[in-house]
Amino acid sequence: MTQLRVLVVEDDAAIRRLLLAALTRAGYDVIQATDARAALAALAIDKPDAVLLDLGLPDRDGLELVPLIKAAGPALIVVSARGETDQKVAALDLGADDYLTKPFDSEELHARLRTALRHRRHATTTTDTVALGDVTIDLAKRLVFRAGAEVHLTPKEYAMLAELARYPGRVITHAHLLRAVWGPGHEYDVEYLRVAARGIRRKLEADPATPHLLRNEPGVGYRLVG
Ligand code: CA
Repeated sequence: MTQLRVLVVEDDAAIRRLLLAALTRAGYDVIQATDARAALAALAIDKPDAVLLDLGLPDRDGLELVPLIKAAGPALIVVSARGETDQKVAALDLGADDYLTKPFDSEELHARLRTALRHRRHATTTTDTVALGDVTIDLAKRLVFRAGAEVHLTPKEYAMLAELARYPGRVITHAHLLRAVWGPGHEYDVEYLRVAARGIRRKLEADPATPHLLRNEPGVGYRLVG
């Protein structure tokens, strides 16, 4: 198996060291850049498979790099401080695959990176059936099963679940889901999503109050987890 290459773009030396140690231990080939200029050079020369991008860079707004990095092909995870919700949403809408909030643990880092790299190879899931724990979603027949028994969702609940199931493990923004399910013009009707999410959880989660399947990412979106 060829070693996957990860470019870490981060000006904070302590965080860079932590990322370098965690990624090297996990078997990745790690390259580092401390500003936007070096990041763009490394992107062209080293052709990384994935990029971890700090949004607060000394020479340029990290958000400006998002479309440039995505155009070059690698998976992209942005790294931002707690509370920078607008920045995370903007990065996702510009094409970032996911985000990590500082401080994060290495488990979280590896899980996000694995998911983003998998999606880089398959832009969306190409299979007709998505299985997550005891829940199976048949996207071709528009059927949902839990522990083998068919579950009846409302059309909007199904549409929200199906859109999330196309990107298992990835956070999908509120605006993306609202556009996909309710159509253009409903990008701000986040309450619609809360109602549909409640219905999905009631029908599919073992304990709807502590959801394991349909995760909420406050202020950002939802994520379907296996
Ligand atoms: Ca920074």
